[in-house]
Amino acid sequence: MDYELSPRERAWRDEVRGFIAEHVDERLVDETRLRGNEGRGPEAQRFLDALRARGWDRIAFPVESGGLGKTAVEQWLFIDQIETAGAPMLPLTFTSVAPTILRIGTDQQRQEWLPRIQRGEVDFALGYSESEAGTDLASLRTRANLDGDHWVVNGQKMWNTMAHTATHNWLAVRTEPDAPKHKGISMIIVPMDAPGVSVQPIQVWPGLRTNAVFFDNVRVPRDYLMGERGLGFYYAAMALNFERLSIGSAGMARRIFDALVRDVRERVVDGQPLRENPWVRDRLARLRVELDAARLLALEVAIRLDKGEVPAAASSMAKACVSELAQRVADTGCEILGLDGQLHAEEPGAPVKGRLQWLYRLSPMLAFGGGTNEVQRDIIGFMGYGLPRK
Ligand SMILES: Cc1cc2nc3c(=O)[nH]c(=O)nc-3n(C[C@H](O)[C@H](O)[C@H](O)COP(=O)(O)OP(=O)(O)OC[C@H]3O[C@@H](n4cnc5c(N)ncnc54)[C@H](O)[C@@H]3O)c2cc1C
Repeated sequence: MDYELSPRERAWRDEVRGFIAEHVDERLVDETRLRGNEGRGPEAQRFLDALRARGWDRIAFPVESGGLGKTAVEQWLFIDQIETAGAPMLPLTFTSVAPTILRIGTDQQRQEWLPRIQRGEVDFALGYSESEAGTDLASLRTRANLDGDHWVVNGQKMWNTMAHTATHNWLAVRTEPDAPKHKGISMIIVPMDAPGVSVQPIQVWPGLRTNAVFFDNVRVPRDYLMGERGLGFYYAAMALNFERLSIGSAGMARRIFDALVRDVRERVVDGQPLRENPWVRDRLARLRVELDAARLLALEVAIRLDKGEVPAAASSMAKACVSELAQRVADTGCEILGLDGQLHAEEPGAPVKGRLQWLYRLSPMLAFGGGTNEVQRDIIGFMGYGLPRK
């Protein structure tokens, strides 16, 4: 595998870095961390507007659809630079739902939804999971029945993050109850202000909000069902594949690791400079090696995608590696900083702006978001090594 960036890729990376130097500052980084998933704040909106002005919100779109025609490596470089800077990622509306609609939607659906997404009028929550359907998504029970020119949606989604700020839900529903379970699902768009939709908050450990969402005889126009009936399971998998390119960046862990190293250089504990402590130096060196290796693993996925491969095992490796590495950076950082590492950003004397304890609370989510790591390891086993499928 040749990991060397081409001159064109290096030029693109430098252009993105230049943009970040101009548009990302501490106020934006702090707002991004503090707001969690409570929607975009004013700084994030300014940042998104600047991205839009360059057409970079369409980075995942092909040229013929008004996109930039960027390769997978170029898309990954963009994501990695943004994550490393601590700026808000492009919403999944742009990087997961829109590219899926582009591929599966009818001409009319593309013409209706893509301009609205580009103008920022439509923001999606992703409604796949249910209480009894997470990893085994094909068991989902929320159903949609056709009644004249409308679908009538009934059921409940769990962990429907951003449903309280989104304008629409990208919803997996059962439309063919008699078909085998993988073939009975469709993807449908449900406006969040449609009568019969209700949202209940669920607070989770890192201080983030997600939601349970209920659908009680919600009527949706017939052509809000995207692509073909019964192919929704495959469409959801396609959207999740687009989502995974962004999960494979160790940029966030790298940024917090770099801040930790800066702190360690200056910190003195019991009269001893922390930078001279052999255990601390050893731990930091190990993490640095792992961060560099994770970067190459993620880059390999993009390189393979550009070669036309479907790098299932490599992308599962990158996802499992990056997410668990974030946990190790948080664990080790909190250990090095001792009790001070548990201070929140707003508490006096909090080292590294409280980011280690924040990552400690956030990072377990990365291990199951976008598919649990147990399942990723199963994929590595059967796709990478030809072991029997569980
Ligand atoms: C904070 C948060 C935000 C979320 N946001 C969203 C969202 O916006 N939209 C959305 O649709 N979903 C969302 N989810 C749901 C998330 O994707 C699921 O939690 C995840 O897919 C796991 O599903 P589950 O919780 O039902 O666990 P289960 O699927 O029941 O798994 C439980 C455990 O069993 C293991 N397991 C299950 N099957 C296998 C297998 N075949 N082989 C090996 N091990 C297995 C899993 O790895 C896991 O450790 C969110 C969840 C949380 C907690």
